[in-house]
Amino acid sequence: MHTQRLILTLAALGVAASPALAAFSPEQAPGRLPKNVIPLSYTIAIVPNVAALSLTGRESIVLKVRAATGTIQFNSLNEKLHDVRFDGKPVKKTMSNDKAQLTTIALIKPAAVGTHTLSFSYSGKIEESAQGLFAQPYLDPSGAKRTLLSTQMEATDARRMFPCWDEPAFRATFRLTATVPAGWAAVGNMPIAKRVVRGNLATITFQDSPRMPSYLIEFSAGELAQISATKNGTQFGVWAVRGLENNGATALANAEIILADYNEYFAYPYPLPKLDSIAVPGGFQGAMENWGAITYNDQTLLLSASSSIVNRQTVFSIQAHEMAHQWNGDLVTMAWWDDIWLNESFASWMAAKETDLRNPDWKWSEAQDEDKEDAMSADARVTSHPIQQHVTDELQATNSFDPQITYSKGQAILRMFEAFLGADKFRDGIRGYIKAFAYSNATTGDLWNALNFSSGQDVRAIAAGWTEQAGFPLVSVVASCDAAGARTLQLSQKRFLLQGVDKQQASWKIPLQIRSGSDAAAHALLLTHQDQTAPAGRCDEPLSANAGALGFYRTRYDAATLAVNTRNFGRLPDPDRIALLDDQWALVEAGIDPLPTYLALAASMGSDLDTTAWIQIAGALATIEYAERGTPGHEAFAAFARSLLKPAFEQLGWNAKPNETAAVQRLRRNVIRQLGTLGDPAIIEEARKRFAAFLSDHKSISPDDQAIILNIVAQNADAATFESLHAVARAGKDETETRRYYAALMAVRDPLLAQQAAQIALSSEIPPQADSLRLQLLQRLSDRHQQLSWHEFIDNSERLLKPFAANAPLIVAQYMPEAYWSGIPLSEVEAWVRAHVPAEMGENVDRGMETARFKLAEKDRLVRDTDAYLHR
Ligand SMILES: [Zn+2]
Repeated sequence: MHTQRLILTLAALGVAASPALAAFSPEQAPGRLPKNVIPLSYTIAIVPNVAALSLTGRESIVLKVRAATGTIQFNSLNEKLHDVRFDGKPVKKTMSNDKAQLTTIALIKPAAVGTHTLSFSYSGKIEESAQGLFAQPYLDPSGAKRTLLSTQMEATDARRMFPCWDEPAFRATFRLTATVPAGWAAVGNMPIAKRVVRGNLATITFQDSPRMPSYLIEFSAGELAQISATKNGTQFGVWAVRGLENNGATALANAEIILADYNEYFAYPYPLPKLDSIAVPGGFQGAMENWGAITYNDQTLLLSASSSIVNRQTVFSIQAHEMAHQWNGDLVTMAWWDDIWLNESFASWMAAKETDLRNPDWKWSEAQDEDKEDAMSADARVTSHPIQQHVTDELQATNSFDPQITYSKGQAILRMFEAFLGADKFRDGIRGYIKAFAYSNATTGDLWNALNFSSGQDVRAIAAGWTEQAGFPLVSVVASCDAAGARTLQLSQKRFLLQGVDKQQASWKIPLQIRSGSDAAAHALLLTHQDQTAPAGRCDEPLSANAGALGFYRTRYDAATLAVNTRNFGRLPDPDRIALLDDQWALVEAGIDPLPTYLALAASMGSDLDTTAWIQIAGALATIEYAERGTPGHEAFAAFARSLLKPAFEQLGWNAKPNETAAVQRLRRNVIRQLGTLGDPAIIEEARKRFAAFLSDHKSISPDDQAIILNIVAQNADAATFESLHAVARAGKDETETRRYYAALMAVRDPLLAQQAAQIALSSEIPPQADSLRLQLLQRLSDRHQQLSWHEFIDNSERLLKPFAANAPLIVAQYMPEAYWSGIPLSEVEAWVRAHVPAEMGENVDRGMETARFKLAEKDRLVRDTDAYLHR
């Protein structure tokens, strides 16, 4: 209905309505299931048996048959169906194939076009990791062993809990009933409609859900308790294992603020009666935007006296991400998994905007630069992939959740378009899109059409290059000056790669933001052809071709312009300075420009306290320091790096000052950490002194500062110090402390102590709800002890990867080669990885190995160039 109104408006304005603005029909979506039978409503009743890790269920589905058919096909996995009936009558045959994850029902006589009912009973499994309905063991606050039931359906695991049409285009209503112990609480997408207690069991029925895809179903049950509030007609709840619910107070307050902002931004009020946030202990990773019932790993939702500012930032920003999905993802869903970026990039972009809006002193937008750089490093590989990637089979869908490209690159692209179109026009386009496709599905093309309409620009033509092809451009800027000093730019582009050549000769329509001079406003310029020219101020003014650092491209200035920029570095607006640092470092890494061009910029920071710029510099210095380890030039480089960081440290000191922003405090911790790693004796001495005080009174170091101080102490620990750090870790009073203190132990440099650390990471000292921590601990150990970490990983891989469930193949294929490149022969890493992931992950392995080879080659080059620079 809303769609029709949008088309009418377009027609009235004389703009040709694109066919993609027509109402969504399932034919538009690829998928394996036939489209001739469509589910309209499910009624599902389950009885979980937690002790036996099994369940029984009864299911009835109202179907629309769109073309007469003798067979009905849908998804199932590990389920046995019996008593199958079609319109109340037995069927000819029921065949379930777990390998294909399909059940096919042959009818006695073909079903006519119209509405029918399919019903059956079934038995199934409760999973032990977060796929489908899973049982999560944990120790409650009193230390007693408990189990919680929860669900994780995205991408394709609803079929593990109940047979269904498990593809995103098949929207239907769901009425869920579950029978659980009477002492348990249960949470679903919708409020509870009915609760009937019989003996020691309770049967709970939730209200019918709105029409939604199966991957958004949520059900949690266990010894849970909640805190709640009502605002503007929406009921908010934060659920946690009993005894921890009050740690959800900040999250509850955040949720109220974020929802009110989003109601306004989307101009479409949150459509469900309630929004619950459920803190799931343990193995469950990250968070999931189930409509009306968002699940979070409890460490990303709950805060205690042990929590640091980083914990608080994580909670707010992840809530802002998951809540953005309540519109983009849940109310409007991508038609198929090849458009998963529509969900994820949008939610990440919106979350950054909201986090920045409500927490200005975090400088959150600027901090997004780190994610953007991470995405650009991944996307500068020959083997990178487009944001929109072909997913033929929904089983590949899980692998398309690539955080660097799907989330971070997509987010940066949206930010670039928002700047180019203007924030108001961009928002109006989003509003039109949400309104047109509410309770339906949409494609990337639909979003571009909505933005075309709101902005009057051909957004689709500009956007295609950014989402449909891999990589991004390097813009070359050559300035010429007339006799009066007026500057004309000549602009050209080619794909930026860290190594290798671009065989496709890709090109982009690039929305540049040009600023000449340090105070002037930037102006937008669309770069569409090679050797395009544009006037840009005066030749003696600094120049930014990526003003505001909003573009997803790199810029290379001619030598004279770079010299003017370097001279004026201290006067540049912060984001322009960050863009220049990022680009110059990337040009050095790619071997395009020499190392001194970057070091000259870093050296001109002086005592300036721009957090994001310093974090960029600290990252580059850390890369060089890692390369120099074990070489004769290491100490000379460390001394040089310390001398760059010292002026900032002298401004900052050890202790936070009153009214200091969170961003400046973050900078202090970063600089101290770097100086500690670089072996600064005064820093190490002070850290030891503070640790000694901490041992007698933990309150002497604030939660914000504990990690850096304990890390510096651990790096330099002897056996006795290691034992006191270990005692601190064992005595951690909650999971937040457990995670922080055990992580610090892994920074140890002494090889014998490192072996002890590895054994600790694998021991039962780590409580079951922190199971996923083990892999992270071994990863930290790999920084100094590659061989030890690698061997412990491959010897225990199954157990270490179990908490990561569906994401485990991506971790192995891509992240293992990226972590283990400096101490293990690459052929050994590659052989092991290929033998331990499914064959269809081959491209992911190629990406991981490309990065491993690049880092190895870069290491030698950086050592050579750094030593030459320092002996000049
Ligand atoms: Zn998301």
